[in-house]
Amino acid sequence: MDLRGFAPVGARIDQYQEEMIRQLQELIAIPSVKSSPAGPDAPFGPEIAKALEYVLAWGEKEGFRAENFSGYAGHLEYGEGGEDLGVLLHLDVVPAGEGWQYPPFQGVRAGGRIYGRGAVDNKGPAVAVLYALKALKEEGFRPARKIRVIFGCDEESSWRCMEHYSQKVPKPALGFVPDADFPLINCEKGSVALTLQAGYGPAPAGGWELLRVAGGTRHNVVPESAEALLLPADSGTGAWDRLQAACDKDPRVTLEKTGEKIRLQVKGKAAHASLPHLGENAIIRLLAILAALGERGGPWDLINLLVKKIPGYTGEELGIACQDLISGALTCNLGTIAIGDGEARVELDIRYPLCIDEETIVQRVSTELGSGFAITGRYGLPPHYFPVESPLVKTLLAAYQEETGDSSPPLAIGGRTYATALGNGVAFGPNLPGRPQLAHQKDEYIEVADLMVAARIYGRALLYLAAGDLRKEDGEK
Ligand SMILES: [Zn+2]
Repeated sequence: MDLRGFAPVGARIDQYQEEMIRQLQELIAIPSVKSSPAGPDAPFGPEIAKALEYVLAWGEKEGFRAENFSGYAGHLEYGEGGEDLGVLLHLDVVPAGEGWQYPPFQGVRAGGRIYGRGAVDNKGPAVAVLYALKALKEEGFRPARKIRVIFGCDEESSWRCMEHYSQKVPKPALGFVPDADFPLINCEKGSVALTLQAGYGPAPAGGWELLRVAGGTRHNVVPESAEALLLPADSGTGAWDRLQAACDKDPRVTLEKTGEKIRLQVKGKAAHASLPHLGENAIIRLLAILAALGERGGPWDLINLLVKKIPGYTGEELGIACQDLISGALTCNLGTIAIGDGEARVELDIRYPLCIDEETIVQRVSTELGSGFAITGRYGLPPHYFPVESPLVKTLLAAYQEETGDSSPPLAIGGRTYATALGNGVAFGPNLPGRPQLAHQKDEYIEVADLMVAARIYGRALLYLAAGDLRKEDGEK
């Protein structure tokens, strides 16, 4: 069913297929990886600036109003009046990395796919949106509210693009962000990253001496390795035997003796902090082994406290475990640790559902760990949530369902998408359900068929949203 006369627009989008593929190939051929600034209008390097100029020049040629915000971001506008409808995309890409079968910056077409860095994240979706807009314009659609397609240039690093942009132009009243999954993501959990620090004195003589503990790389990654450097309690075999017993023949653990010192290494499995069940936390395993030595005083008290309060990722022992039906369960990742020379520092990454708030979490963590640690750093983002019944979500879901026939419900995730940078908008595509997640991977590609489906979905979404009256209960006639 083609509600509100989408049929001619959809047919026109289909006609653009070869042109769209060419544009995507040309965009992929601009290796828009962040590099050193190249002048005032290229704050993220010359290639990203070139990619921005490319899409803006195309837009101008097609009759849209184009504006470049000093290379931080740019936009194309169509129509007048009303509250702006925004679509946010990004033109920067992560570095290619190793192991590609296809050249990462050529846009090779093979087996119905276009390969290259940025094919799906986020140049393919950019092309889909541009041609959806062009089709609407060519079909004579006059939006009741201005459509603004915004191109950020720093999504993969620090989102400075949107920081700059929103200082120059008010953010759109509503919109969507084609930088994640279909059907759409209506709930991104809240997140808070905490740094905790403590000082400690020497442990009583006669026991194991802990020289150093180190593990993890970033708060938002489940640590895949951790190690401790120890001096045994005595030179006899008793200490070594106790340590071996604590390691319990765990294949992930290696012990190495250099002189008097013992290096204890643990291998885990990395995962995103929002999906801790997919990883194995090497720091937590290491701390459990150290606690099993039964030492007290000095750094040992801090380790014993951490083992008691953070034995896993649910937050249970910190008093923050909770879940709700919309957003799922809270997760708590012990991401990094550094202990040595009288100082200890750990970083936690907590993703929380709608049923708790940041203040409560911080209070409880400081109550539970307060006997040892003080919170010295804190960075939080509230949940990004739109009810299923909200007009924006209903309208976007209708566009998706009409085009695909799929009535999967919207998604809730623990990660954060670029939708946070747009403000009043949700992540909407381009990845169709069941497709592999190829962003940031080697041999990134987009199926040509998926590119076209995405363009048609975005065309419908623009049509419905910019027609002025957001779909209401009785909107379907
Ligand atoms: Zn992206």
